Amino acid sequence: MSKGTINVSVENIFPLIKKFLYSDHEIFLRELVSNATDATVKMKHLINIGEAKVEYGNPIIEVKIDKENKKLHILDQGIGMTKEEVEKYINDIAFSGAEEFLEKYKDESGEDKGIIGHFGLGFYSAFMVADKVEIISKSYKDEPAVRWECDGSPEYITEKANRTERGTEIILHIAEDSTEFLEEARIKELLTKYNKFMPIPIKFGTRTETLPKPEGAKEDDPAPTKEVDNIINNPTPAWTKQPTDLKEEDYKSFYRELYPMQFEEPLFHIHLNVDYPFNLTGILYFPKMTTDLNIQKDKIQLYQNQVFVTDNVEGIVPEFLTMLRGVIDSPDIPLNVSRSYLQADGAVKKISSYITRKVADKLKSLFNNNREDFEKKWNDIKIVIEYGMLSEEKFFEKAQAFALYPTIDDTYFTLEEFKEKVKTAQTDKDDKLVILYASNKDEQHAYIEAAKEKGYEVLFLDSPIVSHLIQKLETTEDKISFVRVDSDHIDNLIKKDEEQISKLSDEEKEKLKSLLTEIIPQDKFTVQLEAMDSQANPFIITQPEFMRRMKEMQQTGGGMFGMGNMPDMYNLVVNTNNELIGEILNTKTAKKKERLVNQALDLARLSQNLLKGEELTTFIKRSFEMIK
Ligand code: ADP
Repeated sequence: MSKGTINVSVENIFPLIKKFLYSDHEIFLRELVSNATDATVKMKHLINIGEAKVEYGNPIIEVKIDKENKKLHILDQGIGMTKEEVEKYINDIAFSGAEEFLEKYKDESGEDKGIIGHFGLGFYSAFMVADKVEIISKSYKDEPAVRWECDGSPEYITEKANRTERGTEIILHIAEDSTEFLEEARIKELLTKYNKFMPIPIKFGTRTETLPKPEGAKEDDPAPTKEVDNIINNPTPAWTKQPTDLKEEDYKSFYRELYPMQFEEPLFHIHLNVDYPFNLTGILYFPKMTTDLNIQKDKIQLYQNQVFVTDNVEGIVPEFLTMLRGVIDSPDIPLNVSRSYLQADGAVKKISSYITRKVADKLKSLFNNNREDFEKKWNDIKIVIEYGMLSEEKFFEKAQAFALYPTIDDTYFTLEEFKEKVKTAQTDKDDKLVILYASNKDEQHAYIEAAKEKGYEVLFLDSPIVSHLIQKLETTEDKISFVRVDSDHIDNLIKKDEEQISKLSDEEKEKLKSLLTEIIPQDKFTVQLEAMDSQANPFIITQPEFMRRMKEMQQTGGGMFGMGNMPDMYNLVVNTNNELIGEILNTKTAKKKERLVNQALDLARLSQNLLKGEELTTFIKRSFEMIK
């Protein structure tokens, strides 16, 4: 037996290890299972290159709880270590690695630990949960086995051991404050979280398997059973395979494996696979989206060589794609840096733009290959696409080819196609192409009908970010102008060949104007007299496109500063050609005039859902009076 002291330059790193990353103590298990995996993969490699003349067999890793003795065992059948190797790798290299790691990050603020905290501590992370650690190892080389023991002080022991089979066993003597790691359910949870897709089978306990009944067995004979290893991982997950070896069903079943609680099937997938200029594999899925942008984040899982790292991929995947699901696996993402550094890292930037490009290409091919199906899915994916168009210029350019604009009657156009369709029929006074749209089929029903009656096409754009998108389209496209159907009367939005002739004389118009300004509250409505089709309603309330859009943009982030606090101003468009206007002018008493104007105004407000509270009560009373 030999004793020694680990060469410590920091006062004593063990208390530090314990304190470090308090909430992330659980990562010790991932670190140790990763080491076991590496040791096994290395064994295979040495055999393959003819360096080691031993049998590989069917190695597995085992995690075992010994609750009674408060121990947790991690066993592997990898390359093992000789006494010299333990002293070199564990006492010197791993120790100084851990020491360096702590030196660097012990002052790091909690917020920035994010990814950093997840990697780098290695073997010594065992001391976050154990007050004594043993290693028993037998190298594949023809040398005796070794036992190493350390109780968290810089002193350690190494001695000969009598293990004969190749591999390493790590024994953690779990500390009083960490007994949760002696619970089967907790260990199972951790293995499932971090090691579910690691490349070497991991055994945790056994399970009972039901075997087929032997021939000639009676009806009520119990089926025979057998105890088998309970393997908790899938060593060859779909993303590690070639796309050509996978069928649609394989992608779907991998999705279920990733999200066992998710019953809805994904809409489609994108298989990522590059090895130059960086290494990245993965599968992304488009799920059905709701319109709530926030609840769907943090579903993409980041792995490094099949080891789970985090499900917060912010900075690695462009913001708009964090709404997708799936897996990204890349050894090239630096994990020992802060998030702000990560975002500025050249390799990470390349990865992010590669992912964006792949997603755009996939969408384009889906659109080209089966447009009908793409249209069916549009409603569930539009939020991601529209968000991407707003936030990534490259994606915006590509998306012009497949971004869809459905009409109120569910006909889908690209912007180009729609422009072509309405090019001469829908222009305004400045010869700009007018793109009419509605955002709510119920609330804007009357306006939609009015536009349809005139034969105009109306788009149905109901995303929460649509005001931002159309603002962007107007600045990139030449001479187009989006207007919501209720932002003015349809006849004022679109230029017509013939002007309506006013039925009122100039003198009558003056009279009308002064009458209306007396009755109608000036701080809420701007009165606007228009000679329109006599069939159009006498009073119409509108809100100019510009004003409403700026307000909306501010509510959903961005837009013009200060607009959100502005009081709501509306236009009251009065159709001077409607019969009722003549009637109001000819009514004898001032009181009756006022009653008619108020009733007409209230009806216009009602149609815009603007009549509430006391005003609504007054209106109902007045209406009953009038039909008596
Ligand atoms: P890292 O794995 O990043 O190298 P660790 O501190 O986790 O750092 O481990 C240090 C070294 O100890 C490893 O590089 C490896 O050489 C050796 N080692 C650790 N665990 C095992 C194991 N289960 N089998 C063989 N060697 C191991």
